[in-house]
Amino acid sequence: MVRAAPSLTVAARGISYPSIGQIAEPGDDKKTNWDGGTVKPAPFDYVRAENVGEALSALAANAEAQVLAGGQSLIAMMNLRLAKPGCLIDINRLSDLDYIRAEGDELALGALTRHTAAATSPVVAEFCPLMTAAYGFIAHRAVRNRGTVGGNLCHADPSSENPAVAIASGATLVLNSVDGERRVAAEDFFLGLFETATGQNELLTEIRIPKAPANQGWSFQETSTRKGDFALVGIAATLDCPNGACTDARIVAVGVGERAVRLDAAETAITGAAIDDASLVAAAQAARDSVDPPSDFHADSEFRRDLVFSLTKRALCEAYGRCRKEG
Ligand SMILES: Cc1cc2nc3c(=O)[nH]c(=O)nc-3n(C[C@H](O)[C@H](O)[C@H](O)COP(=O)(O)OP(=O)(O)OC[C@H]3O[C@@H](n4cnc5c(N)ncnc54)[C@H](O)[C@@H]3O)c2cc1C
Repeated sequence: MVRAAPSLTVAARGISYPSIGQIAEPGDDKKTNWDGGTVKPAPFDYVRAENVGEALSALAANAEAQVLAGGQSLIAMMNLRLAKPGCLIDINRLSDLDYIRAEGDELALGALTRHTAAATSPVVAEFCPLMTAAYGFIAHRAVRNRGTVGGNLCHADPSSENPAVAIASGATLVLNSVDGERRVAAEDFFLGLFETATGQNELLTEIRIPKAPANQGWSFQETSTRKGDFALVGIAATLDCPNGACTDARIVAVGVGERAVRLDAAETAITGAAIDDASLVAAAQAARDSVDPPSDFHADSEFRRDLVFSLTKRALCEAYGRCRKEG
């Protein structure tokens, strides 16, 4: 298991996180005189991988290594000395991890796909419209130009949108190491606060998402303090309602705990029901009752639970409106 560096924004939100590896000691706040220059992060070795094999070998050779993708989360943490990787494995030249492809009944995204490419891709819009919708809420242009889908998922911020998209879409994450490849369902990938199933020597190489059925409805709803900020609460939903009644629902929340979570009770409440105001309220109520979000200086727990109610209802309503009904 790997914990990513805690994010600046989460630290700033006042959410406490457990002490984890590669974190600076208390008081270790001086700038380092490194090779004659003054730099912010603690000293680290640097490997610029030219291909995936080199990246995997470098990861295997250095137990303190961390992958550098877009650097939008990791570099900020290093500059604040909240993260002190002994070695950075820079994967930015691995252009063979930068692609978006429709393959059979799946959508495949290379881990180095930049947010901007995913957000504007017609292929993503066609086969995972939920992701396109979520990008309406993810970060700002400068961050999206550099940040990557893979880095975003590996960072595993509890308020990040893409983990919810990955879980709601039934995505599979492809991990590679010198020992070979393994695949992990998105639902099993996010283990806790900044903690994923990625092994220390593993590189996330690909995200595979089943193509959304043509008649499926979807919605991503979020409230944040400012546009582009991490979610106070975000809800991803997909609905199948071929005859007006719901046959399948996936509802995932972010910002309500240490990781993105499926709202099983809400899914159960809506599945099998005819979609009307009463069933939407029942599902939203079940969603609210099933979470126990943290309080911080942006929002207390009760406010977040109220957001879960209203955003779940709104998401299901919008998803239902997008369902293609038969007959
Ligand atoms: C101002 C600002 C606003 C933001 N707002 C949002 C927001 O609203 N929603 C949101 O979701 N995000 C937001 N972010 C974060 C942004 O999405 C980052 O791009 C993302 O969290 C990290 O992606 P990255 O490619 O920059 O990864 P990096 O910062 O390079 O790495 C992050 C972590 O993932 C690991 N990692 C990266 N790639 C891999 C890989 N292929 N395999 C294994 N490990 C890997 C790294 O070792 C590190 O631990 C924001 C960031 C900023 C600075």
